[in-house]
Amino acid sequence: MKECIFCKIVKKEVKSKIIFENELIVAFEDAFPVAPVHILIIPKLHIDSMNYVKEHHKKIFGEIYCTIPNIAKQLNIAKEGYRLVLNNGINAGQEVKHIHVHLIGGKRLQKI
Ligand code: 5GP
Ligand code: ZN
Repeated sequence: MKECIFCKIVKKEVKSKIIFENELIVAFEDAFPVAPVHILIIPKLHIDSMNYVKEHHKKIFGEIYCTIPNIAKQLNIAKEGYRLVLNNGINAGQEVKHIHVHLIGGKRLQKI
């Protein structure tokens, strides 16, 4: 099977601007930002989408969500706020089938 683009980013086979990394997760700048700050936070482990999240992945998602406040602070968007988006499947327009959380901020976003 052809390896996905985010797995290649994890392995540094594809370049990205990594802003945080530890043994479980990587956070890097989105290549096509929709706002002044647009970061993707991904597990190093390939998981297609929410539909494949299991009990034993708890630590990974704890790590993702507990790291977000630190990233937001680091990028100076914590105080003014930001949006988290997790597109899941076709109806949500998920393009990359490696689960990822978008962290979007740095401007006033259109209310959804
Ligand atoms: P989705 O639509 O699947 O929720 O979001 C995928 C995101 O990945 C998009 O915002 C897109 O701009 C970003 N993206 C796709 N390919 C690459 C890449 O090779 N590098 C980086 N940094 N971002 C990518
Ligand atoms: Zn992957």
